[in-house]
Amino acid sequence: MNAMSLHLTHRPRRLRRTEAIRSFVRETRLTPDRLIYPMFVCEGEGIRREVGSMPGVYQLSVDEAVKETAAAKSDGVPGVLLFGLPASKDDAGSKASDSQAPVQSAVRAIKREVKDAVVFTDVCLCEYTSHGHCGLMHGSDILNDATVAELVKAALSHAEAGADFVAPSDMMDGRVGAIRTALDAAGHDQVGLMAYSAKYCSAFYGPFRDAADSAPQFGDRRSHQMDPANVEEALREVALDLAEGADIVMVKPALTYLDVISRVKREFNRPTAAYHVSGEYAMLKAAARNGWLDEERAMLETLTSIARAGADLIITYYAREAARAL
Ligand SMILES: [Zn+2]
Repeated sequence: MNAMSLHLTHRPRRLRRTEAIRSFVRETRLTPDRLIYPMFVCEGEGIRREVGSMPGVYQLSVDEAVKETAAAKSDGVPGVLLFGLPASKDDAGSKASDSQAPVQSAVRAIKREVKDAVVFTDVCLCEYTSHGHCGLMHGSDILNDATVAELVKAALSHAEAGADFVAPSDMMDGRVGAIRTALDAAGHDQVGLMAYSAKYCSAFYGPFRDAADSAPQFGDRRSHQMDPANVEEALREVALDLAEGADIVMVKPALTYLDVISRVKREFNRPTAAYHVSGEYAMLKAAARNGWLDEERAMLETLTSIARAGADLIITYYAREAARAL
């Protein structure tokens, strides 16, 4: 015994001595099988257009989206989440439910060509409306119920194409129940619903809006997305979505809302997803490019923290890189 030894009953550092010991007592395991890879699908063929504010993320034509899904699958990422970039937009966002639009075409192609890929589709109007809002407008107001009818049509078209899960991201009231009812009535009772239940009005969506060309042309999204200051309201939103038939609930963004993820998981104990959003990705990429952070460590620490908070599924632009690192 070292003459300097204290007589300590507890020496927590004994459990940190070697990697094997640390691994025995590790509480959170980040594994690729809980990652979902978001992709932006556009018209055309052979197109891979990098998004300026999201290095390593591309707008992909359907054929490229199929290749990217297959590559993600071989990295160990089981699921993709598709966003659509239509060739033209209008006031009503009518391309959202067009069976020949990029998302619907990509779903069919991926389900046909990539065995066992789980395909989630984003359901909202903001990628499809000329004004960039998430719904049908009357002046500067979003018409909730008329928008829900359009979202139902979009979700049905995704289900017809073969989507495994539709993921409404619009935050309109009552859309989960309306979509569930319509899916069931059309014989799609096995198509799941991943609801963006607590989607906050966040500054971290900026790069996504470059990628999807979906920035609102006027006003903002505060009338439907949640106030960053609220958590009790998030629990009420989650409760409603579960009551309306959501299979998976989501908190978005992730890092600035780890407490919300934790509360949702603890209070409902249902499958919970978190979206590590474009701005969260972009800031790590930017710091890494400047040599200010060890990107791999920062990425894994970030994703581990989201899992530790309680997320079962993590949607992240880092999915492929993280799966390879793991
Ligand atoms: Zn939207």
